[in-house]
Amino acid sequence: MTSDPAWMAAAACRGLTPNLFHPEPGDSRVTLHAKQVCAECPVADACLQYALDNGMDDGVWGGKTPGERRPRNRRNIDIRVYPIREHGVSAGYGAHLRRREPPCEACRLAHNQRVNEYKKSQKRESGAA
Ligand code: SF4
Ligand SMILES: [Zn+2]
Repeated sequence: MTSDPAWMAAAACRGLTPNLFHPEPGDSRVTLHAKQVCAECPVADACLQYALDNGMDDGVWGGKTPGERRPRNRRNIDIRVYPIREHGVSAGYGAHLRRREPPCEACRLAHNQRVNEYKKSQKRESGAA
């Protein structure tokens, strides 16, 4: 388990319930609320980049929903072809997405594991608060 990146210390969503940033699909009310928090967030750029680098396919990051982070919707994001240095890691998953290709099984599993770890750590944090 890696520690949180430094920018998370300044996140506007710190201390808020993680559920707010993981709306049920189609729950536009919660999605809008999350986006309003992100709009005031000083580290939204770093947050969005983190989600892209790590292939997060769940939740609102940097004010963007999973759909808005998909390669075809990223008009203002560099989508040049990236080499995949390693498969079976979440960075590989992100590279697949940047290449606009479906992630391979190994990368997909690594990514899912990372998302689950993140959710667990968020639960622990909110439980301790
Ligand atoms: S951009 Fe949104 S999700 Fe990301 S750290 Fe800021 S408030 Fe949290
Ligand atoms: Zn792969």
